[in-house]
Amino acid sequence: MSQLFELPPLPYAFNALEPAIDALTMEIHHDKHHAAYVANLNKALESQPELQGKSIEALLKGLDAIPEAVRTAIRNNGGGHANHSLYWDILTPGGSKSPNGPFEKTLLAEFGTLDKFNELFSNAGLTRFGSGWAWLVVDPVKKLKVYSTANQDSPLSQDYTPILCMDVWEHAYYLKYQNRRADYIKAFMGVVNWDVVSQLYEKAIH
Ligand code: MN
Repeated sequence: MSQLFELPPLPYAFNALEPAIDALTMEIHHDKHHAAYVANLNKALESQPELQGKSIEALLKGLDAIPEAVRTAIRNNGGGHANHSLYWDILTPGGSKSPNGPFEKTLLAEFGTLDKFNELFSNAGLTRFGSGWAWLVVDPVKKLKVYSTANQDSPLSQDYTPILCMDVWEHAYYLKYQNRRADYIKAFMGVVNWDVVSQLYEKAIH
């Protein structure tokens, strides 16, 4: 059987985000964790020819219509694939240090200041009990919303368009930060690629 989904290459070197996120964490996270979500997603799709060829977005938006036998596997592993693909893209040691364009305008209108937004977003990650993700999403009426999901649940399944995400599973930070999730979150906020987030916002509202 042909490979349905493929692990996207990391768009920068494993050590590119040092010291915020260490190279070994990035290597294991991408080459082992993300790779496993892709492999298990493909495995779940093997028995479902009618689902093959659908995009990851279409699969996650239409979870209710997916046969029960593979729904949980696709929710978890499809979510894992989509979430991590976004995570690599919105991080970079370069890029703009703050939002720009229409996104900046909207962010400031809805949250007041970038500091206030950062605090709200960081807190969403800090207070997510157990494993999950913090999100900035565009909702169906094009408003911004900060919240978190458990496990690998994707905002796509709730009719939201994710434009910024933060993985708060321990595998995202434990080697360097151990139990100190707050320290990881602070470091993470310093390597967000706001250019990409700003572009994703513009795409989401059009
Ligand atoms: Mn992860």
